[in-house]
Amino acid sequence: MREAILEGKSKYVVRDAPDPVPADKEVLIKVRYAGICGSDLHTYYEGANIRHGHEFSGDIVAVGADVKGWEVGDRVTAESHSWCGECFWCKRGETGLCENLYVIWAQIPGVFATYTKVEYNRLYKLPPEMNYEEAVMVEPTAVALHAVNISGMEIGDNIAVLGLGPIGQLIARLAKLSGAGAVYATDLSKSRLELARDVVEEVIDVSAVDPVARILDLTGGRGADVVFECAGAIAATQQSLALARKGGTVVIPGVCLHPVETMISDIPLRELTVKGTVFFYSAEFATALKLINEKKIDGASLITSVMPLEDIDEAFRKAASGEGGKILLQP
Ligand SMILES: [Zn+2]
Ligand SMILES: [Zn+2]
Repeated sequence: MREAILEGKSKYVVRDAPDPVPADKEVLIKVRYAGICGSDLHTYYEGANIRHGHEFSGDIVAVGADVKGWEVGDRVTAESHSWCGECFWCKRGETGLCENLYVIWAQIPGVFATYTKVEYNRLYKLPPEMNYEEAVMVEPTAVALHAVNISGMEIGDNIAVLGLGPIGQLIARLAKLSGAGAVYATDLSKSRLELARDVVEEVIDVSAVDPVARILDLTGGRGADVVFECAGAIAATQQSLALARKGGTVVIPGVCLHPVETMISDIPLRELTVKGTVFFYSAEFATALKLINEKKIDGASLITSVMPLEDIDEAFRKAASGEGGKILLQP
């Protein structure tokens, strides 16, 4: 088969590799499409030398001896991570916080390849009317749904979404679906603002408009009830605290790997709640699949490029440009 491997910082090579053989509890899947995630971009810059990719759809082509309920030909997607089931967090049901998650993550080769192996308990069958492209959007939708679910947002709330990459786009849509009074969304990229324009009350181009002043203006000087920092950027992180109303909540799915200078006294003095979020629970993955299948979330509209796996380097450069929506690779 063919597989893409990072060879140093920001450099992929596509090479031949032996076809994987599924273990007893695994199925072998021929990958139809694989999505590029923001977290893949971090590892791209770092050059982490493993096979990446965790958003995908495909067909089962072989099943292990102990696999129950799945057969060759099933159209599937799967949860992006496995957990140990034994640590403190797994036993609390907080599987997305499993202490062995990243160890397992690094051990399981990703989906930027012709074939991938998956434990059968992570699989989900695609409904007949769901196409392979939109099925790739289930995993990022589950990530976005978890962020909305933990935010405590209420019907009628004013919501600010900072950063309109795929996760920000999905959070904006899910917030609308959950009864937000208004959603205000910010980005630098014209193409990303365009993707959200018809979905939210107002898109704010931060290259031309001060988002803090504008959102304060739009909310009677109070600020947003809930702010989602989806850019993983220094400026957006600073804005997120300034934008939240007194007593409001800031949810941070964006992963900013730089120190951020901010007045931390905003948190006690304005009684802000700050929540981090990563991954999702299994029930949220199932809900995300249902929302996309019922077209309540139009996952397909967020896919702006489909490229062959052989062009993965170009696809990553495109993803790193901060323009457009989800990029899919086709092995
Ligand atoms: Zn992801
Ligand atoms: Zn665990």
